[in-house]
Parts: sequence; C-alpha cells; structure tokens
Amino acid sequence: MVNLWKRESSVRDTNYCDLFSHLGNGQYEHLSRELQQGKTEKSTDVSIAYRLQGNDLFRENKIAQAMELYNKSLCFAEIGTENVSLVYANRSSCFLALKMYEEALIDIELAVKAKYPDRLMAKLMRRQATCLRLMEAEPQRKRFQPKLSFQSHDRYPCLANSLEMKCNQKFGRHIVATRDIEVDKMILVERNFASVSIDDERMSCAKCMKTKANFIACSMCTDAMYCCIDCMQRDATHKMTCGQFNGVDGSMKLYIQTVFIAISLFKNVDNLMEFVEEALKSNGIQESMMDAKSQYRLFLSIQPSINEHDKDDLMFDAQKIYIILQSTPTIKILFGSVAKQRFLQHLVLHHLLVTVRNRFQVSADGDHLKTTEIASITCIFNHSCYPNAFNHVIDNQSVLITIRPVEKGEQLFISYLGEETEKSTDFRRMSLMNDFGFFCECDKCVPRCSRSDRVAMEMDSYFKYIKQNYKIAFDEKVRRIALKEVCIRFLNKYGHLPWSDELNLVTFCYVKWFFEYSTVDY
Ligand SMILES: [Zn+2]
Ligand SMILES: [Zn+2]
Ligand SMILES: [Zn+2]
Repeated sequence: MVNLWKRESSVRDTNYCDLFSHLGNGQYEHLSRELQQGKTEKSTDVSIAYRLQGNDLFRENKIAQAMELYNKSLCFAEIGTENVSLVYANRSSCFLALKMYEEALIDIELAVKAKYPDRLMAKLMRRQATCLRLMEAEPQRKRFQPKLSFQSHDRYPCLANSLEMKCNQKFGRHIVATRDIEVDKMILVERNFASVSIDDERMSCAKCMKTKANFIACSMCTDAMYCCIDCMQRDATHKMTCGQFNGVDGSMKLYIQTVFIAISLFKNVDNLMEFVEEALKSNGIQESMMDAKSQYRLFLSIQPSINEHDKDDLMFDAQKIYIILQSTPTIKILFGSVAKQRFLQHLVLHHLLVTVRNRFQVSADGDHLKTTEIASITCIFNHSCYPNAFNHVIDNQSVLITIRPVEKGEQLFISYLGEETEKSTDFRRMSLMNDFGFFCECDKCVPRCSRSDRVAMEMDSYFKYIKQNYKIAFDEKVRRIALKEVCIRFLNKYGHLPWSDELNLVTFCYVKWFFEYSTVDY
C-alpha cells in the first residue's frame, strides 16, 4: 500500500500521514449508528424463550441444537435469576445424553450454586446419581490433545525440531526438513495468534474457542461465554470490547481482535509504538518465538500480499475498522493524541493486510461451528496444490501433519486453497494469482508422474484395498482406522512421487480421516 507507514514529512518523528483524510463525517456517523443498532441487552424474557426452544429440541433428541439454545439462553439470562440455574440444569441433561458425564456433573454443580429451586432439586439429584453410576461403568476418555511427534524446536517451541526456518530469494521465508520425516507426523502445534467464530459466538469459548464445554456467560454483555473462569479472566481483549461489537461480522471481528491483542500485550501505547517500529525495521528470520510478544513480532513480519483490484476495498475496510475502534471508550482514551491516532490508522491497515491473506477458515472439531484464525508460524509455510503437510485447527491451535514423506533438506508445503484444492488447475491458478500473486507450478498443476509409476501404484495391494474400501469404511471406527493405516503405508511407499490421480485418492482418504476423525479415533 502506497502510504503505509509513511510520515507526513521527512523530518524525524513527525506524525504518520493521515490514511483516511478523505473520510467524511457521514460515514462515521452511519457506522456508529449501525453498531448501536446491533446492540442487545440481557433479558429474562428472551432467555426463557431460548430455553423453552431448547427443551423442544431436546425432546426431539436434537442434542447439539438444544445445547446451542441453552447457551444462547444463558447469555441473555439476567445474573441472579432462577433462569440461570434452570439453564445449567437443562444443559446437564444434554451432557448426560452425550455421555459427557464430567461435564454433566459440573453443570449440575453450577445449577445448585446458582440457587436451583428446591421444588425441582430431587430430580436434579437423581440426575447426578445417574451420572456418577454411568461414569463408573464406562470411564470417560480425555479430550484429544494434539502433540508434536518430535521434540520441540529450541527457538520455536511450537515447531518440531526436525524442521528449520530458512530464507532465500526464490521462496522468501520457508520451512525445510532437517531429517527424513514419514507420513502422519505432527510437525507444528501453534496456538493461534487470533481467532473468532464466524457465525455464532455462542457455540465456543470466546478465549480458547473450545466447544461443548460448561460455558459461563459474560455478566455484562450477551455475546461472550467462556469454558472456565480462567479463560474469562484472561480475555483482555473482551474487557476492552465487551458489548460493543454485536453488529460486526466474522472476518471484521478477526481484524479488530488482532489490534486489541496487540494493544493488550503492552503496558501502554508508547511501548506498543516502540515495539512495532522496531519490528518493522527488521527483515528476514526472527531469532525465536518463545512468547506472545515474539509471536506478535513474527505476525508483523508476515508479508502482506496485495492485489491491485482489492486495494480500494481494503482501504475501505481499514477505514471501517478504524471507525469501529474509535467508537470504543478504551481506544479513545488510549489513543488520545493525533500522533497516536495516526499510528493506529497505520497499525489497523498493516494488520488487515497481513490477516486478510493469511487467515484460514475451518469448521472446528467436527461441529458446524466455523472459525477463522491466524497463526504466525503457519503463515511461513509456502503453498503447493499437492502439499506434503496438511493444516487443521484443533483446540484453537494450528496443527500441521505430514501427508507425504519428506526427505531431509526438502521444503514443507501446505495448501492455501482449503477445499478448493480439489478444483480444476485453471481455477486454482487463477485463485492463487488473484489472492497471492503467484503462478503455481506445483506437480499437481504440472502433472509429471510417469505411466510406469502409475501402473505400479494401481497394481499395489494397498491401493486395491483403499479403492475397494474407502466409500464404506468411514462409517465404522475399526474399518476407518484400518483404512487410515493402509493409506499411511501406501503414502510412505509412493508419496515421494509427483502428483497423480492414484496418490490424490489416497491422500484424500488420509486427510479425510485426519480432518474428521483424528480427535475421536485416537
Ligand atoms: Zn476457554
Ligand atoms: Zn462481555
Ligand atoms: Zn499448484
């Protein structure tokens, strides 16, 4: 962007130039009004209505949907009212139905603490007894925790020590293997720098994005809930934005969140300014990523790729974010001077440019919850339409697993296209050119697998097994685990070959298992 981080004059320490000088008052007022209209308040009536809808769904055995409505009901419930305790109690039935006994017991406890009415207490205690009995009969498994398959890197602990960050003219910063790596190895488990849910925030913890948990609602607003007190207390960004962004959509929320996260990392705005200006001067490989500040430093160093067509839209969005931020009391106080406001304008645009291209979007944990997030190290992996690593989000962490064998010295790639990786070469190339500005020449875009290699794969007994079973195997745990194992063996044997239809099918099966079932089948 032309004016990004430009100052008004060449004299040192003058203000940054006004990025939005052509911004009229009309737009400011219009947007502020829009935000005001989106605001909702706690209401017992609304809360009860949602709870009753939840009860209907529960009776129809639609447990997940019922739980969603109970969570909504909780967000609207006025603190201290009986309705709060009734919601917890009703939600405990959902957990019981899902065989999540520990969670059911926690909800029962929450209900009692929230002064559950005596007239119903006997029923609740019977439920508690049922939970305890079932829990003994069938002990619950712990939640799946993604874990590196290797020791962690000494300077980037989220990365496996079998990888290294490199930088050169052709690829910029990229990641290479320092040893041979087989298929099915977890090579990165990185906490997202920022993440938000796209459609409804009342399905996940506002801090850690966990789903299906014993949510407690923010006592002030109707749109944030937390899986535990700890998440609630640690959510510094929500403290600054509580109740103010109801009218803002998913991607916009993510851009805004990145700015608040940055602000929350520093004691004051002067420290933030100093840090950002220092970070912008350096280029190349950052020495380490050990904490939230160094993760932010890496975030700032991610190359924003801008497509000329999008320039006006991006500028418009940056303006919009700036206006939204300016409408919050915290920002008004923190960025009181012209110098600080101008800095904020540039920071907003910089964050937007980094995030818009590098964020990814997923359906989390097999639920229909859609989230969008950004993670600093994940952004350093380059693209291939037939990559050797696949990225997924588990428990608010960006997780990368190898899906083809990687030789020592080879570069690691992920696909930037998500589900669109399966589309035609023309489509992929156009999309990559538009969004990332490069012409893809990976071995899926330029197929070069030899006829004889393809015949060998087709004749292979693993391949025959996969072809015969993949359409039916996923419905049943034992069969899909067997299928996954065969896929891994096949990929370890042939995955070094360039892309072909045969490899595509096997990789597809393995990725499907990893994406949909890895957190249940472990
Ligand atoms: Zn949480
Ligand atoms: Zn709140
Ligand atoms: Zn390609």
